[in-house]
Amino acid sequence: MKSVLYVSVADPGLGTDAIHDIVSHSQRRNGADGVSGILLYNGSNFLQLIEGEAAMIDACYARIQRDPRHSGVVTLREEEIAEREFPGWAMRFSLVEQPVENTLKAVHEAGAPRADTLDRIAAFVGLNRRSR
Ligand code: FAD
Repeated sequence: MKSVLYVSVADPGLGTDAIHDIVSHSQRRNGADGVSGILLYNGSNFLQLIEGEAAMIDACYARIQRDPRHSGVVTLREEEIAEREFPGWAMRFSLVEQPVENTLKAVHEAGAPRADTLDRIAAFVGLNRRSR
């Protein structure tokens, strides 16, 4: 198995309905493909972790990178894994809101996130806090 963690810049015109479409499509497709993970959105940026069989993750990430609803995709981590961090979620979605600590708590409770994943998420959430 492998996992990919990335950040990206959401299209500025993206509304609530579009976010809902992305999440519901992802959950349906990932459920069929054995992909799990989390997706965070802070109103401007996405952070997503996808995990599963390598061929499925490569195909999923290629589709995600081509998607015009975001840009500037930066891969933070891409590696082989022995265990999933969010086995119970075809795609757990969290909107980063104040207080940002709630987002970290929700991610923590959603699975078994690694310490380095939590560090990345804390940085992402902190970035959001500084930008407001
Ligand atoms: P098609 O449905 O054939 O669409 C063709 C093209 O149009 C693709 O480039 C597609 O990206 C784009 N497109 C599709 N719908 C829209 C729309 N409503 N508005 C504008 N452009 C559109 N997919 C997953 O399967 N799993 C995930 O975990 C996942 N996470 C995502 C996270 C983010 C932040 C984003 C933006 C997208 C995510 N997607 C995910 C969706 C993925 O990028 C593809 O859109 C989807 O998998 C369908 O791909 P396709 O090649 O079958 O495209």
